[in-house]
Amino acid sequence: MVKKFGDHTVLNDLNFTVSKGERVTLIGPSGSGKTTILRLVMTLEELTGGYIHVGGNPLQYEEQGGKRMRIPDKRRRRTTTDIGMVFQHFNLFPNMTVMENVIEAPMHVMGLSKAAAVEKAESLLDKVGMAWKKDARPSELSGGQQQRIAIARALAMDPEILLLDEVTSALDPELVGEVLAVLKDIAAETDISMLIVTHEMQFARDVSDRVMMFDQGSVVEQASPERIFSDPEHQRTRDFLHAIL
Ligand code: ADP
Ligand code: MG
Repeated sequence: MVKKFGDHTVLNDLNFTVSKGERVTLIGPSGSGKTTILRLVMTLEELTGGYIHVGGNPLQYEEQGGKRMRIPDKRRRRTTTDIGMVFQHFNLFPNMTVMENVIEAPMHVMGLSKAAAVEKAESLLDKVGMAWKKDARPSELSGGQQQRIAIARALAMDPEILLLDEVTSALDPELVGEVLAVLKDIAAETDISMLIVTHEMQFARDVSDRVMMFDQGSVVEQASPERIFSDPEHQRTRDFLHAIL
């Protein structure tokens, strides 16, 4: 894939695959393009060149008769329901209750009945420990609680892949653990693929099958977390890990 913002090439011929059920963590310096990758997979950014497939389906463009063709919006929307994303800044709908936040997309995008959506939401809110706040508004909750609800909301769409962009970076330090614990449970109990950007290296070690070190729009090296964190091959990886640990 290629991504440019104007003349600025952010991702230059990047190519990687996440297998079904695999958990891949992206690490690398600020500005290296990690968020851009996740936003491209979420189709929040237009891909400049190349292709992205999720579950075998092309997301934004497909090859037809040797040509790169834009996929019509209606078909795009169908595939993007397989993708869930949680952002750094809790982006719950502020004017909705917790329950309304979680049932919104299942009802309006998947077409679930309200009763079915509520039942599903209750079980997911229970899983993230937030069922007791289902009638609260986001503004009444801590950042950690809001992130746990954002995770439940993403899971309510039964995603094939969950994209997590520094979901604990904006939290007060004492709230980080509760969010990571929820994510570890989900990683252990489901086979949802995950593409994770995080600076929490212990968490990355615990949940990742593979860690990709990323710099200036390309992969510097990739390996198991054990390998990357204890014996990185490249000086750039060593320098990065040294700077953040
Ligand atoms: P990371 O998440 O690794 O910190 P980003 O993906 O946010 O990196 O950014 C990669 C590069 O793309 C940066 O140089 C950033 O300035 C640029 N960039 C990101 N979004 C935009 C945008 N909407 N318009 C212009 N440049 C952007
Ligand atoms: Mg980022």
